[in-house]
Amino acid sequence: MQKKPEAIVWFDQVTKQDIPLVGGKGANLGEMTNAKIPVPPGFIITSSAYYDFIDSSGVQSQIRKILEGLDIENSKALSAASVKIKDLIMQTVLPDSLARQIKDAYAKLGGGLVAVRSSATAEDLPEASFAGQQSTYLNQEGPDQVVHAVQMCWASLFEARAIYYRQEQHFDHFKVGIAVPVQRMVQSVTSGVIFTIEPITHDPSKIVIEAIYGLGEGLVSGEINPDLFIVSKQGPAILSRRISFQDRRLVRNTSGTGEGANYWQQVPVDKQEQQKLCDEDVLKLAELAMHIEKHYGVPQDIEWAKEDGAIYVVQSRPVTAIKEQALEEEPEIKEQPILEGSPASPGLASGPVKILMDPSEIDRVDSGDILVAEMTTPDFVPAMKRAAAIVTNRGGRTSHAAIVSRELGIPCVVGTHEATKVLRNEQIITVDGTHGKVYPGKVARRIQTSSVVSMVRDAIKTKTRVYVNLAQPELADMVAARNVDGVGLLRAEFIISGIGKHPNYMIETGRQEEFINKLYEGIVPFAKAFHPRPVVYRTTDFKTNEYRELEGGDKYELPEENPMLGYRGASRYIRDIDSFKMEIEAIKRVRKDYPNLWVMIPFVRTVDELRRTKEILEAEGLKRGPDFKLWMMTEIPANIFLMDKFIDVGIDGISIGSNDLTQLTLGIDRDSEKLQETFDERNDAVMAALEIAVKTAKRKGITSSICGQAPSVYPEMTEKLVAWGITSVSVSPDMIGTTREIIAKAEAKVHG
Ligand code: PEP
Ligand code: MG
Repeated sequence: MQKKPEAIVWFDQVTKQDIPLVGGKGANLGEMTNAKIPVPPGFIITSSAYYDFIDSSGVQSQIRKILEGLDIENSKALSAASVKIKDLIMQTVLPDSLARQIKDAYAKLGGGLVAVRSSATAEDLPEASFAGQQSTYLNQEGPDQVVHAVQMCWASLFEARAIYYRQEQHFDHFKVGIAVPVQRMVQSVTSGVIFTIEPITHDPSKIVIEAIYGLGEGLVSGEINPDLFIVSKQGPAILSRRISFQDRRLVRNTSGTGEGANYWQQVPVDKQEQQKLCDEDVLKLAELAMHIEKHYGVPQDIEWAKEDGAIYVVQSRPVTAIKEQALEEEPEIKEQPILEGSPASPGLASGPVKILMDPSEIDRVDSGDILVAEMTTPDFVPAMKRAAAIVTNRGGRTSHAAIVSRELGIPCVVGTHEATKVLRNEQIITVDGTHGKVYPGKVARRIQTSSVVSMVRDAIKTKTRVYVNLAQPELADMVAARNVDGVGLLRAEFIISGIGKHPNYMIETGRQEEFINKLYEGIVPFAKAFHPRPVVYRTTDFKTNEYRELEGGDKYELPEENPMLGYRGASRYIRDIDSFKMEIEAIKRVRKDYPNLWVMIPFVRTVDELRRTKEILEAEGLKRGPDFKLWMMTEIPANIFLMDKFIDVGIDGISIGSNDLTQLTLGIDRDSEKLQETFDERNDAVMAALEIAVKTAKRKGITSSICGQAPSVYPEMTEKLVAWGITSVSVSPDMIGTTREIIAKAEAKVHG
């Protein structure tokens, strides 16, 4: 005859054969302990103890009576039955011998804080967890409290949902049992997560380790930025590390018990900037992670904790789809919007409305306000930097408002037609830039993407370069610290509108030197922050209506019906050489200290324009060479038709301006809100143009890039561009990580 199973077993006494006795969770803890995976120690009150309890106390027959004839579809009756049964289990006193055994085991474990968990068991159910409940009671302390928590786990087997499920599936309520693992809670000095494959590109040769001070909950909830280590399984060896600042940590409150007993504590100042784990521990964790992965045979997502020099594994499970979580869109708000427009910059923000009818009013916008305007122009930029979000009546996804808010990382909705009419000053609204909607009141908080994802992305290396489109000097240092290869588009107009004076006006008033110097000062922060990475300065491409806004501008700029098609780009350089020379002089001065500053010529209508512009540059001393690259923007269909001829003039690279190229290929004003749906860079004609540009550049042996909004708005385009052979992609700062990830995957496809 078989010996009666024990009421209590220690983790090292069970294996996966013991699921009927200790449930899946209990068996797994046993497996890990026996496989020398350092889980915090503990014991399990077996299902046999549970069955004994309900049998001998007569509880089972009373439960049967309560459940007899119960209509589970009658939710009132179901929940009344559930409450009755749970009360019955809680009120019934445990047999003395069992209570004693639990208390003895708890004392043997060393007392202190424990986690009491449910581990459902079933004879022939593969997924017992559905049939039982999964209640867990953390931070339990003291023998009576532990016994009480065990009874609560037992009672949880009769939650209404569990009764419903078993009845509906025709499972016998008394063939589903419950075991209760009791495990010591680690007072983590440091803790974190390990992925045994790099979770973004799924590179199995790398391990990713995150570490923070204090309890792991601080990391899982996304409140703390962890240190990140990427470790090669070969060796193992640390490949890269990123140390994060941490000034507070979550600790267990050993005096209070219960779920809410954790609290935040200040990290000592001398530790705030330090690496949270020494290299030796990082490598130890890597070895441990490899051991666990080998044990389970599939990549694992492991939670670990370190306490007084000992490392524990708190949890290990197969790596799930982190990728989906990262790329997942923010969920749409269910309420009725008051305004709709085009989504121009993603994210959610709430705040009071400030309607600006003219840039002269920009001082009214305080930090955290929502800037609302007909449209924005470079003169609005100081207010845009303070705004929490931007809403405009007019404009599309390549308009000024869209470009600037993408760069600033704030939500923006453009082309709402009537924002300035519908909204009132000081009214609180919520702007959903991801979906292009505006809601009354404060309806949601910004949702953060996983820090694991952004940090892992920041460590990915690709052959195709990731550049950034940047114009705000105060962002230069922060963006330069990211995993980015340089600035692929520095728009001169932002610096010049900061100067605020028309160049011809400066020449006429003899203030050339002042203009050159201010332009020089405007460029330096970028060249310096990114040095030695290239910064591609795009020479001025104001339209005449924008030039007219500069001081003295109306004297020099004739009003035009269609400024988009007017006197702009390279056409100006060859007609107004003196202005262009001032710009060249500023570039030359910057290059004395920062030779990483390159030049890109925009809006080149004819091959002759390119040739003449280049001649002016050369005459002024800006000649192509190993450390000076000259690029041409490709943003007019003529550039595509005559790509070979443009390249033959002698340039080092092209960069596609998909904003203007789409405008001119489809014949749609890029600022037309009416035609925003048709203004789509993924249109076959635009894509055909991109393919020609990239492939021709490749064939001719020069570099190719793209700096329009397209890959920032439609990241899926990047995959095609890489397949065609583009050598870099320039995106808004918020898309650096995503773009790097897409490129890594696309390169893996191309190169195998
Ligand atoms: C473009 O046209 O795609 C471009 C990057 O230039 P801008 O948006 O400044 O015209
Ligand atoms: Mg352009």
